Amino acid sequence: MRAISCTSHGEAETGAGGFYRVFTPFWNAIRSRDVALPTAAPKRLRALPAWPGSEALADWRLGAAMGRGTDVVGRHARVGEPRAREKLDRFLDGPVGCYRQQRDLPATDGTSRLSENLTYGEIGIRQVWHAARRAMEDGHGGAEAFLRELGWREFAYHLVHHTPGIVSANWRDGWDSFPWRGDTDDAERWRRGMTGEPFVDAAMREMYVTGMMHNRSRMIAASYLTKHLLTDWRIGLRWFEDCLIDWDPAANAMGWQWVAGSGPDAAPYFRVFNPATQAGKFDPDQEYRQRFVAELAADPGADALAFFDAVPKAWRLDARAPYPAPVIALSEGRNRALAAYEARNS
Ligand SMILES: Cc1cc2nc3c(=O)[nH]c(=O)nc-3n(C[C@H](O)[C@H](O)[C@H](O)COP(=O)(O)OP(=O)(O)OC[C@H]3O[C@@H](n4cnc5c(N)ncnc54)[C@H](O)[C@@H]3O)c2cc1C
Repeated sequence: MRAISCTSHGEAETGAGGFYRVFTPFWNAIRSRDVALPTAAPKRLRALPAWPGSEALADWRLGAAMGRGTDVVGRHARVGEPRAREKLDRFLDGPVGCYRQQRDLPATDGTSRLSENLTYGEIGIRQVWHAARRAMEDGHGGAEAFLRELGWREFAYHLVHHTPGIVSANWRDGWDSFPWRGDTDDAERWRRGMTGEPFVDAAMREMYVTGMMHNRSRMIAASYLTKHLLTDWRIGLRWFEDCLIDWDPAANAMGWQWVAGSGPDAAPYFRVFNPATQAGKFDPDQEYRQRFVAELAADPGADALAFFDAVPKAWRLDARAPYPAPVIALSEGRNRALAAYEARNS
């Protein structure tokens, strides 16, 4: 019996004895494996007879760098072991049934939102895996698709295990001379959620307000930065690392390199997500964009306004200011990206 878990990434091997570089064969190799059951929690923990002197956690002022943002994000974070269990149960009792149809709609509460808990080990991957397997066996339609996403998380760790450089260097050969732009004013507008592209800005502001970003939005925001703005993926990777509550070094690096084209299983270079088309498809009623971009709503809601409370005062952003014009026309950004990618291939 072989197990997949956070500690067994060396175990999955291709027929030739190497590691997997492409997700689908990796998934096919692991999906039906027996996964070890979670270990039961200890019944008793014996305390030390005397505790060593220690500093108080509050004195570390961990939230200080976020300034006003701490309170805003704190209202959204659902962390801790009991909340993690609750989220898993709630998700498998209902939303999992529509997961396949709804997981790409950022305005819908259609995913588990367990990444923040998985990141901190508040719930174990084996617990989630076995619960989802039971849901699948009980006929819950979306459970299989959900298991596949857990497989992506495993794949990220498989890659980090075998190619640790993925977290900071181009994973594919031939990318080191790619003419990425550095940290320009355009990148700063991206960070501030002020690109003038509503879906991208909604995504960036969602991250500022909630500490999370929907998976579809991560793909669009990352694609816009690396393709339309032709910016080095590491600049985006570092910003996500700074802002995400669910920051995970493996998933973040794989996600960024997948989008940029330099990574495993990467999107082909000519696939440049068009944020406007994506918005029409995945946010057809503008619910998501209006939820996070105050300038787009006649009567902005709490989350849209909270963005202005969350960001540093030094940015001098005002909810009543007009929405900015786009950094670059989408067609111009796309053509510039395609020309750079084609030059690399020639
Ligand atoms: C550019 C980029 C950066 C990302 N950075 C992170 C990150 O720092 N931390 C992180 O946990 N995820 C990251 N992801 C993956 C994904 O966006 C999140 O895991 C997902 O949005 C979390 O929401 P959820 O828990 O509701 O997911 P669900 O849809 O409920 O999925 C269940 C679990 O499967 C895993 N999972 C789902 N999709 C992926 C994926 N594409 N790659 C790896 N694991 C996945 C997560 O652990 C998630 O909690 C990134 C994706 C991209 C494109």
